[in-house]
Amino acid sequence: MTNKSALPVAPEKEEAMTRQIYLDNAATTKVLPAVVYEMLPYYTEGYGNPSSLYTFGQQARTALTNARERIARHLNAREQDLYFTSGGTESDNWALKETAFAYADKGKHIITSAIEHHAITHSCEWLKKHGFEITYLKVDEFGLIDPAVFEAAIRPDTTLASIIFANNEIGTIQPIKELAAIAHAHGLVFHTDAVQALANVRIDVADLDVDMLSASAHKFHGPKGIGFLYIRKGIKTRSFMDGGAQERKRRAGTENVPSIMGMAKALDICMDLFDERMELETRLRELLINRILAEVPYSRLNGHRSERLPGNTNFSFEFVEGESLLLTLEQKGILASSGSACASGSLDPSHVLLAIGLPHEIAHGSLRLTIGEDITTDDINFTVDTIKEVVSRLRAMSPLYEDFIAGKKPVSAVSHAHTLEH
Ligand SMILES: *Cc1c(COP(=O)(O)O)cnc(C)c1O
Repeated sequence: MTNKSALPVAPEKEEAMTRQIYLDNAATTKVLPAVVYEMLPYYTEGYGNPSSLYTFGQQARTALTNARERIARHLNAREQDLYFTSGGTESDNWALKETAFAYADKGKHIITSAIEHHAITHSCEWLKKHGFEITYLKVDEFGLIDPAVFEAAIRPDTTLASIIFANNEIGTIQPIKELAAIAHAHGLVFHTDAVQALANVRIDVADLDVDMLSASAHKFHGPKGIGFLYIRKGIKTRSFMDGGAQERKRRAGTENVPSIMGMAKALDICMDLFDERMELETRLRELLINRILAEVPYSRLNGHRSERLPGNTNFSFEFVEGESLLLTLEQKGILASSGSACASGSLDPSHVLLAIGLPHEIAHGSLRLTIGEDITTDDINFTVDTIKEVVSRLRAMSPLYEDFIAGKKPVSAVSHAHTLEH
């Protein structure tokens, strides 16, 4: 397997005995060597505390300022409006909980969607326990929110809306600019969870006119445990952490300088190579989608055909258990993710797949494959060949499939969706 991508690849990849094909880049990504090199000096040499007044501390402060400027530039944001956090989960919790309370005197109704990440949905559940009302907007079969449905859900006591920019499971990209405009026409604060979108979609916060935006470095080749929340000037929110005066008194705690430097470097690299990355990932995604739908019977693509993240694919295979498929693929060196809420250890189908209308049994046979920059055409072809083989082997052991083939059961409604029409 040779490295055809423009991104540097760790040397052990070429030498690996077993061929590992990492197709779970929506879960996390590899930290690029250049990112690690950027971080190292801030552990061993420039390790001062940015709050210390002597020069050694102030050098760390200068590094922070530099990182903030670089990240802000990629977003067309003011650098003062970026607040470093411990990642996407903290940013989402902060944006939801503290903003809801900051505006509670105006109303206690919040709008979000049925396909948010758990960092949002569980924050909403927490708010519900504390006296807020939550509306979860339905999505269509492709995972898109209808702006008219959003507008119709707005009430006089609605203060905040939070909509995921690009979905982590099915990759659907929402019309964020249009949704933000509707929110503002009704005086709402608009937050978007852009953890999957940043570095995969061009984001200009001024043009989109969003008030708050969450991001996390480990989804774009940066380190884990670092992210930021963009908060537009003038938006009221309470601080999530009590302590020192860091981050303009809004997020206490000594800044994670090495990780912040790594995050800035990762974003620099991803944005410098944006066009090449998008071209590569989209081309491989299309190969994967076209081959699966053409060659695996009773398969369907989940999510939108075109309004989706460049590296995201999500399929359902009827008469197959997603977990069995996943484990068999792992034995072949292919790492993917299933449509179950595996993070919680539960085998319940994902709320996202149910929200786009998949019946439980079909949602259970789902597989997410998310492409990164060091994946090759050979990797994709090998993956499709393996899926074909494993799916037919698993179906051969399924009594339901036997009955179906023998004509004893009707074809379920979605089994016809394996066309490229949508
Ligand atoms: C990964 C992810 C998060 C959580 O980010 P962490 O940095 O892992 O806490 C939140 N939202 C979305 C859409 C994600 O994909």
